[in-house]
Amino acid sequence: MSKHANISIFVPHIGCPNMCSFCNQHAITGTQYIPRAYDVKSACEDALSRGINVENTEIAFFGGSFTAIPREYMTELLQAAKPYVDMGFKGIRISTRPDCINDEVLSLLKAYGVTTIELGAQSTNDSVLSLNDRGHTANDIINASSLVKRYNFTLGLQMMVGLYGSTPELDMKTALDIISLSPSEVRIYPVVILDNTKLGRLYQSGEYIPYSLDEAVNICADMLDLLENNGINVIKLGLHASEIVEGEMLGGLYHPAFRELCEAERFKKLMLGLIENDKRATFTVKPSDLSKALGQKRSNIEYFKSLGIEVNIKPDINQIEKILKI
Ligand code: SF4
Repeated sequence: MSKHANISIFVPHIGCPNMCSFCNQHAITGTQYIPRAYDVKSACEDALSRGINVENTEIAFFGGSFTAIPREYMTELLQAAKPYVDMGFKGIRISTRPDCINDEVLSLLKAYGVTTIELGAQSTNDSVLSLNDRGHTANDIINASSLVKRYNFTLGLQMMVGLYGSTPELDMKTALDIISLSPSEVRIYPVVILDNTKLGRLYQSGEYIPYSLDEAVNICADMLDLLENNGINVIKLGLHASEIVEGEMLGGLYHPAFRELCEAERFKKLMLGLIENDKRATFTVKPSDLSKALGQKRSNIEYFKSLGIEVNIKPDINQIEKILKI
């Protein structure tokens, strides 16, 4: 079976009534072009001409708050996408704010073949939400999540790590609260500080001090472990380089291989938990996990070497466990 794919269509900030502390939609979406019905059609036709597997492909409206855009414009985009859902595409994915969800809009989205709704939760702490001008509360996240599930959409939740006023403990609490809402998937965005944002100004005045990259990797490795162990698919961890316009980033938690760093840290912690007083240890992992267990440039092997422990890691095609000490 081929992998899930998205045909991504960026709907810029016009959809959003807010201005969150970290948001500079122009920088994030890389475009202020406002897509119209013909853009949706041409993106789908283009994908078809490339021979994509439609059954695994969703038409994804990303970038703004889809259900907050003018209703006429929202239906124009959905109307353009619907024939492709009728033809066999997996469905339509949208992202929006928790306070822009209600029965009426969910019924409409259902009628047009929307299958997945991602809610920007960001934090479940009301004080962090307020400090970052989110304009909604933790209760809005709970209510919107349960409504989305009641209408049988696939629920995705997005959270941020290292927001202004947050702490590693509050970020972990958000991950735990998210687990209790049982989404199918989660995106974790460590904060990247963009120019022309409130966060950028707080950072430049010294009022906001982001976590170090190591701290963020440490927290996100624990979150990844926690979420996946609870059956939640972490579909994203960190921003891609292409999502940040060069020159717009002032600082924060960005690394081109952020997820890989977190995966390696996760394996390092798992091995640390299994090594007792050994001076030599051998582990087996699934072949697909070998590079994560070794770490970038064998950083995990080097780390254990610095502790005086010789670690060997072997791939095993029959492995079911995440990691085994043999
Ligand atoms: S809700 Fe989303 S689009 Fe709106 S300001 Fe916040 S981050 Fe930007």
